[in-house]
Amino acid sequence: MMDGKDESPNLDELRRQLDETRRQLDEERQRRRELEGPTDSETPGDNEPRVPIRGGMDSSMEVAPINEADVTLRRLVQRIAMILQAEKIAIMFYDREKGELLGIPPAYGIDDDHLKIFRIRATHGISGKVFREGEPAIFHDTNTDPRTKEDPFGLLHVQNGITVPLVIEKRDEENRVIDRTTIGVLHAFNKRHGEDFNDEDVRLLERMARNVGSIIANLQMYREVVEEREELLQTFESLAAGLILVSPEGRLSQVNASARAIFGADADAIGKNYRDVLKNEAIEKIFLANQRGEETPKTEIHIALGGTDRIYEVQSAQVRNEEGRDLGIVAIFNDITEMKSIDKMKSSFVAMASHELRTPLTAIKGFSSTLLEGIDEDMYSKEDQREFLGIVVQECDRLRRLIDDLLNTSRIESGESLKPHYTRFELLPLLEKAVMVQQQASNKHKVTLKVHNELPDTIIGDQDKLDQILTNLLNNAIKYSPAGGDVIVHAKTEGKDILIGVQDQGLGIPKEHLIRVFERFHRVDNEDNRKIYGTGLGLFLVKHLVERVHLGQIWVESEVGVGSTFYVRIPVELDVEKAKSLND
Ligand code: ADP
Repeated sequence: MMDGKDESPNLDELRRQLDETRRQLDEERQRRRELEGPTDSETPGDNEPRVPIRGGMDSSMEVAPINEADVTLRRLVQRIAMILQAEKIAIMFYDREKGELLGIPPAYGIDDDHLKIFRIRATHGISGKVFREGEPAIFHDTNTDPRTKEDPFGLLHVQNGITVPLVIEKRDEENRVIDRTTIGVLHAFNKRHGEDFNDEDVRLLERMARNVGSIIANLQMYREVVEEREELLQTFESLAAGLILVSPEGRLSQVNASARAIFGADADAIGKNYRDVLKNEAIEKIFLANQRGEETPKTEIHIALGGTDRIYEVQSAQVRNEEGRDLGIVAIFNDITEMKSIDKMKSSFVAMASHELRTPLTAIKGFSSTLLEGIDEDMYSKEDQREFLGIVVQECDRLRRLIDDLLNTSRIESGESLKPHYTRFELLPLLEKAVMVQQQASNKHKVTLKVHNELPDTIIGDQDKLDQILTNLLNNAIKYSPAGGDVIVHAKTEGKDILIGVQDQGLGIPKEHLIRVFERFHRVDNEDNRKIYGTGLGLFLVKHLVERVHLGQIWVESEVGVGSTFYVRIPVELDVEKAKSLND
């Protein structure tokens, strides 16, 4: 019932996750800008050759789509080929699982089919050596250079080339390298015009490999950010609580499934003004306060959902990034309707229970002190004394019943059994006795037993507990018929079961309470009913005794102003083994 509450996301945690994602996106943008930094006007020269990279990236976008970053890498590869005057360029990636270096796109001068089979173990060939040692290598003739014997260069008709390590660097805020990982190698093959590569080319390729590395790092980062974002959205979507994000301009940027259900919105709500979708003044007030940067306390709001009034606890706050920029509002809606009604029932229970305890105590105290005062002077006749003491005993019984109910309820709640004691016993005498006891307790009501067909002589069950069931139902029948009337206990055999009905001509029970009267603490909350004291525990216990102890069913049919009939169906021959295993 209170699950929603338990699952409710912690606002700070959500804020933190949002900040983190936004920070990553900012970083991503920054890296892209850095990559785009070198411009065409800067010419490659001396020791700082620059590779102008101009992809189709639009820095105003949150993150450039992945294929655009791929384009950047492809262009860079082309430029490397041009600058080095190489016929072919290939990137090899280290696959940790396979322990191999694999050719990956984009390549230059090599078709996809060839690229796919361009691979070598990371312990072999010149590729493996450059990868492992992190030093560039130049080779002038693959036919004679023993270092290239194991590389699959024949496949690509490689005669000469340069191989440099492909490194990803991680930098801190001051641009100092804090981590360096070699992720593969970069090859340039076959210098054009029959020439050969020289040391200058090696340095150039090393430089450009750095750019290749940082684009790949960027791509990886992009994928991670996208995945993380997806994960976060998925988490938001599946929250039991409603979650809404509002942009600083007041547009909805996130409305999860629960929130859509609460506000009757569909997926198109995204991008709309929150006022038009939520249509709730109380929320508007809270959000306006949040927009002014004010902290708002948890607030309860009422929303009609599916025809019933539900209560939500709203927690909301303005979200700011590290620099303090306003990123909008995050709001969480937890359904606390059930919790509220339990709260209400609990407090009315406390009031009822104290009344129920005080009434018999007052009577006991009153009658016994009266007797005590008169003891010396023989003030009261034997008759009077008998009557007074009778009342004291009755009230003690009432107190005991109440305390038993409380104890039994807490036992059931903590999963303990009510320790049934199963025997075979005679049914009819038990019914007759219960009816007689109740008839004696009221002269406003006529309590009778009506047996509709032949009842079995004996049944199997817990005799005391069946008595408790009947007594409770009869008590209620009398209690909730304040104007008096007939109370009839119907009994009949129905196949392998006994059906017992306790009928009264009392107040009746409104439809919406018919199932709920069996819940603990639940009482019908109307004017007539409020005048009648009770704890709301009786039927909860009766239901347990019927269903768990006797493996039966209980239900009620009722009409307000006409009366109610509580039905109990239990087996004649109870499966004791099964019942015991359930009540162990
Ligand atoms: P209590 O009588 O102590 O309140 P119960 O669990 O026995 O607790 O009953 C729960 C509620 O069900 C009552 O408060 C009353 O509103 C309703 N109820 C039970 N029995 C009857 C009845 N025979 N007629 C009308 N209402 C009833």
